[in-house]
Amino acid sequence: MVARAARATDLADLDGAVSDCFACPRLVSWREEVARTRRAAFRDQHYWGRPVPGLGPADARIAILGLAPAAHGGNRTGRIFTGDRSGDVLFAALHRAGLANQPTSVAADDGLTLRDTRIFAAVRCAPPDNKPTPAERDTCAPWLHRELTLIRPTLRVVVALGAFAWAAWWPALRAVYGVRPTSPRPAFGHGAHWSGTAAPDLLGCYHVSQQNTFTGRLTPEMLDDVFTRAKLLAGVD
Ligand code: SF4
Repeated sequence: MVARAARATDLADLDGAVSDCFACPRLVSWREEVARTRRAAFRDQHYWGRPVPGLGPADARIAILGLAPAAHGGNRTGRIFTGDRSGDVLFAALHRAGLANQPTSVAADDGLTLRDTRIFAAVRCAPPDNKPTPAERDTCAPWLHRELTLIRPTLRVVVALGAFAWAAWWPALRAVYGVRPTSPRPAFGHGAHWSGTAAPDLLGCYHVSQQNTFTGRLTPEMLDDVFTRAKLLAGVD
């Protein structure tokens, strides 16, 4: 799997290769079971049921690093943050920021395009209870690291959605950029900002999950602030 990730010469190649990964037995079993059983509301739909690749242009200056696809969102539609409540909140914010051409993301063929932004997850398969294990995160890391390598020439800012994504950044920083963060590693927090000399800036943002957005822990205004800051740091108009 590591070798397959390393062989990917461009994002299309990488997206195709990751979509065919079976490296985590627990997650393979779960993604396929969810795709077989389906949620009642989506009973008439065909679920993707495979790893979910990244989304966005190869010359992105901003990356949004999520946790993992949702069982009935990305695992159903085959596109990251597409078809679930988290995506509703995220894409509405990206549209307000001028980084998405439309405020909704409901299906892989809905015409959505991103500007200057690429979105991907630390773990590419839907996990039970939205909780991948650290071992699964490490197993999936070569896909993340290769994706970062491919967009490295233009990438300036990474927005980590939640503590899990924040934690996934440090091994990537070392593997892709050869940079070690100070010890102890900077703690995750909403609005946290890590800046290195030879690597993209890292911004922390509460995850766009319903747990945060329904409770008011993360508001649209807070998301707008994060993306305004990301655009400024990345030099995006
Ligand atoms: S989580 Fe990542 S490494 Fe594990 S099976 Fe899915 S794509 Fe492969």
